[in-house]
Amino acid sequence: MQHNWSRYLRYIIGGLIGSTVVGLYFGEPLYGLTVGLIVYLWWTLVQARRLYQWLANPSASDDAPQSVGLWGDIFDNLHKLHQSHLRARDRLRAQINRVQESTNAMRDGVIMTDHQGAMEWWNGSAEYLLGFRRNTDQGQYIHNLIRTPAFKSYFDSRDYREPLEIHSPARPHIHLQIQISLFGDDDRLIVAKDVTRLYQLEQMRRDFVGNVSHEMRTPLTVISGYLETLVDNADDLPPKWRRAINTMAAQSSRMEALITDLILLSKIETGEQTVNDSLTDVEGLLGQICHDARALSGEKQHEISVTVADHRLLRGDESQLRSAFSNLIFNAVKYTPPHGHITVTWTTNREGAHLSVRDTGIGIDPIHIPRLTERFYRADPSRHKDTGGTGLGLAIVKHVLINHDGNLEIRSHLGEGSEFICHFPRERLVERVPESTE
Ligand code: ADP
Repeated sequence: MQHNWSRYLRYIIGGLIGSTVVGLYFGEPLYGLTVGLIVYLWWTLVQARRLYQWLANPSASDDAPQSVGLWGDIFDNLHKLHQSHLRARDRLRAQINRVQESTNAMRDGVIMTDHQGAMEWWNGSAEYLLGFRRNTDQGQYIHNLIRTPAFKSYFDSRDYREPLEIHSPARPHIHLQIQISLFGDDDRLIVAKDVTRLYQLEQMRRDFVGNVSHEMRTPLTVISGYLETLVDNADDLPPKWRRAINTMAAQSSRMEALITDLILLSKIETGEQTVNDSLTDVEGLLGQICHDARALSGEKQHEISVTVADHRLLRGDESQLRSAFSNLIFNAVKYTPPHGHITVTWTTNREGAHLSVRDTGIGIDPIHIPRLTERFYRADPSRHKDTGGTGLGLAIVKHVLINHDGNLEIRSHLGEGSEFICHFPRERLVERVPESTE
């Protein structure tokens, strides 16, 4: 290139000298030089115009203009550059087509939107599962097509760690699991999975547990009633019968507690109770629960203290919250040796409201903590069989918190006590309305 450049420079200078010499032959060397310069300028302008026209509309012809000398080299290099761009573009287009084809073949609906939710691209399954139309929905906001409020708040939340489950707006019998990922320039990739079968199975399981518990409650109440009568008159019975009847009565009341918890859990899971329409006075609720906890503690004489740092109300179902809080506080009583301390605190900060139940009890090995909220999971069954628990308490707490957009945090070490913290979002706190004096 460098070599060519000096050659071209030599040609130009040679040409100008030549025109000057011709001018000298006619006795006007300056005219000769001027004519040479004008010719060169004219040639340069003609080539520049050809380049300009080609650059303005390169697609009209793939080939760059032809020329000789310096301009020929410029055109050749531009042509090579243009060709390599065209090849890269074709390669990229083929790759995009391939990705789109494979995404189209997916059974899950895939949608790409910008940060505001304007739809850019979606596959065939998204059309079937969500009822999008290729011709009319391009550029539409996805909130206008999936109008479920839960979807809008999930989309806006930017916290996509957990998927969202909704009914399909186009086919209500289809149950969808929506998962959003952020990509590119704050764009969203939305994947909608058909989980109808799983949902139906889960529904069947809940209904089954709920129905069986209901059906078992009546016969069990009758049996417990008779057993209670027998226990009351146990003095008249032979000693070996007395022991058997006392054991039967204890086991039947355990079963009653279990059935009560199962029914409560299935009610909480199916969302039969309302969590958004009522307000709960947490301060009053904790006062009542701690009163009961002191009665439960009885001779174990735990020191139970309650601190309420915020007097606002909590938007939520009082009976669900009562179940959750009392499970935590009663657990603290159950798993803390006599004279231990139990500290209940209700605090708020920028993140939201927090109920902490701390005890100086037996504690839990951290390896059990991730599984504690599973139904019937016990950290150490041999140590807990005499506590009379149903194994459902923390499962109830977890579901109540899910219903209230909250979550449960557990901190504990074996032998060092435990702390259970219920976190609620800030939006659930509501100012008390001053009572009217009239
Ligand atoms: P349970 O009816 O057995 O108490 P839960 O669901 O309420 O069932 O609790 C599950 C398990 O978590 C308990 O069996 C116990 O091992 C452990 N646990 C719960 N609360 C505490 C606590 N405050 N201290 C120590 N262990 C606890």
